[in-house]
Amino acid sequence: METREALTVDPSLSTIRQLVQRGKKQKPELSSRIEKALVILAFREILPNGPGAWLIQSDDPSKYYEVSAEESDRLAGTCTCPDFAKAPRGWCKHRLALLLARKAARVEAAKEVVKNYREAQRREAAAKTSLAYAAAAGEVSRAMAGL
Ligand SMILES: [Zn+2]
Repeated sequence: METREALTVDPSLSTIRQLVQRGKKQKPELSSRIEKALVILAFREILPNGPGAWLIQSDDPSKYYEVSAEESDRLAGTCTCPDFAKAPRGWCKHRLALLLARKAARVEAAKEVVKNYREAQRREAAAKTSLAYAAAAGEVSRAMAGL
């Protein structure tokens, strides 16, 4: 197989916990598949395979399943694994792994935006404080000079 860049999602454990807890609460019938999807996220390869298509490594590391996932409709998609036909609404662990990976990537990106915004605010506040300090210091030295 040619070398492709794997989908590298490195979400925090808290992001994963939140997504998994919410997923299990909303879809209790998928609980065990959601947990298996975590194993895929942590240990298996997820490789891009053209637009909206992915190869996900099986428990047998020499095998890959073809998973499709619409960009516009994240609930639509298919998988070539045997469980796809049996799973509720086709949510096999591979499709769930891909969904989790994409959601986690979005959550992490959003967290990054919030973090950068807070950092910018903190810097701005620090700059204002140091301007105020400089002004006050200037005031002090002018006052001192006048003594
Ligand atoms: Zn599958």
